[in-house]
Amino acid sequence: MAPIKQHFDYLVIGGGSGGLASGRRAAAMYKKKVGIIESGRLGGTCVNVGCVPKKVTWNAATLAEMMQDAKSYGFDVDVKKFDWKYFVEKRDAYVKRLNGIYSRNLNNDGVTYIPGRAHLLSKNEIEVDEQTPEGEKLGTKAVYTADHILIATGGYPAIPENIPGAEYGITSDGFFEIKTQPKKVVLVGAGYISIEFAGIFQALGTETHLMIRHETFLRSFDPMIQDTLTKYYDEGMGMNLHRHSKQTKIEKDPETGKLTVYYEDSKGTGVLADVDHVIWAIGRKPEVRSLNLPKVGVAQDKKGHIVVDEYQNTSVPGIYALGDVTGRVELTPVAIAAGRRLSDRLFGGIKEAKLDYSNIPSVVFAHPEVGTIGMTEPEAREKFGDENIKIYKTSFVAMYYAMLEHKAPTSYKIVCAGPDEKIVGLHILGQGSAEMLQGFGVAMKMGATKKDFDSCVAIHPTSAEELVTMK
Ligand code: FAD
Ligand code: NDP
Repeated sequence: MAPIKQHFDYLVIGGGSGGLASGRRAAAMYKKKVGIIESGRLGGTCVNVGCVPKKVTWNAATLAEMMQDAKSYGFDVDVKKFDWKYFVEKRDAYVKRLNGIYSRNLNNDGVTYIPGRAHLLSKNEIEVDEQTPEGEKLGTKAVYTADHILIATGGYPAIPENIPGAEYGITSDGFFEIKTQPKKVVLVGAGYISIEFAGIFQALGTETHLMIRHETFLRSFDPMIQDTLTKYYDEGMGMNLHRHSKQTKIEKDPETGKLTVYYEDSKGTGVLADVDHVIWAIGRKPEVRSLNLPKVGVAQDKKGHIVVDEYQNTSVPGIYALGDVTGRVELTPVAIAAGRRLSDRLFGGIKEAKLDYSNIPSVVFAHPEVGTIGMTEPEAREKFGDENIKIYKTSFVAMYYAMLEHKAPTSYKIVCAGPDEKIVGLHILGQGSAEMLQGFGVAMKMGATKKDFDSCVAIHPTSAEELVTMK
């Protein structure tokens, strides 16, 4: 074993959303000696290959749609092309600036940044394969010890195992490395990533094939969201939607690099040639590959996620885990909130500090956006019984589309339970939904009833006003 280099109060494995938030709080607010070990780029998935570059790309796609729409408002716009290369370089530079800001923040808070890959040796010891902040391996190892260890190592995208040629496809990580605009892409998957990327490609003018296994996508969302958005992607946006599909083989032309996708879908068997990219977006796996969890006794579930209690304690006292590696609500603000509360509990004397995982608002940056909090209608019916549920819903054409030929959908649903009509689920789809949801999230956290919504005077003319005037 390499000699022990340093001892910390708190050592964090993973400088992503959760690890940075927890480590910085422990150091800045509670003056603890903190080290953060990171094998990739500071900021983790969200900053480098997730929320941030995705949202910037979604902005570009939304602009593309709006520039088309502008003509219907009387503007003489003639957009000749989208310069993907320019866009990607500028987006990458923005992300790089953020990496620098994260590094400076650690410095300002007095956190020791340890570039390298971590392996647990015992409940207090971590071995690190040392590297430079740029990722260059140094070929040396160092051992650090700590009173408390946090595992916040996130996840990585899954690739199907039984499809010949699956390795020719890329994942969301590869999406952010695409340097020129693809002419034709195939997206496989029915969750957040597939639906967001499909909307982006389609809006930017790439021939987009979306392959899903069932009749609808976003199947963990309320049926209203699934049905409305699946129909709109298919018929409204004109995407090539392949329902009940599976890929049987992928081939790569060694000269051109183009792919051929053999598949089956609800219409039979098919072949797609000249495909630039197949993107697997079929879920993520916990990043536990080099941690040595079994050796140290940290329990995992069947999918490999680290098992934690409501206070983020693992099965080993003194080792904690949070964020995507625990597989519970894989969202950046969830990892951040859990991380801060953990430090409040461990170092701030707030014994009961823990994250309440109920009623977490979430948005899919689809085209148009989807927002959701709380229970779907079927979940609420199951929990409270049909007789105790009241549903309010509306679908309409937002005023933005009054001047346009094409009309994207706007649909809202409020799920209420009990005699006082407590709002237990809110599902919104339509332009502006992402920005709309946060305030309603606060209301639901406060236990809002339908009467509370109705008591708020509407803001006119908006789409959101429908949520306080529904009958
Ligand atoms: P991460 O942020 O993944 O951080 C883990 C870090 O640990 C990584 O930097 C990794 O390099 C490091 N690491 C792993 N193993 C080791 C090791 N052994 N030693 C040292 N370091 C290690 N969420 C949202 O809320 N909104 C969005 O719009 C959104 N969009 C997304 C888009 C995409 C394409 C993806 C993939 C995800 C998106 N997410 C979004 C989810 C969000 O990015 C994650 O939920 C969040 O990053 C999880 O934070 P974390 O701290 O658990 O892990
Ligand atoms: P998800 O778990 O959201 O969805 C993946 C879906 O793909 C599954 O639900 C399944 O749907 C389908 N699928 C699974 N296996 C296969 C297969 N072999 N072939 C075809 N389809 C398959 O995973 P994502 O990768 O989209 O995203 C991971 C997580 O990252 C999300 O759950 C979310 O928490 C987070 N994220 C958040 C975002 C946001 O906040 N805006 C954006 C992006 C990611 P079905 O059963 O219907 O086939």
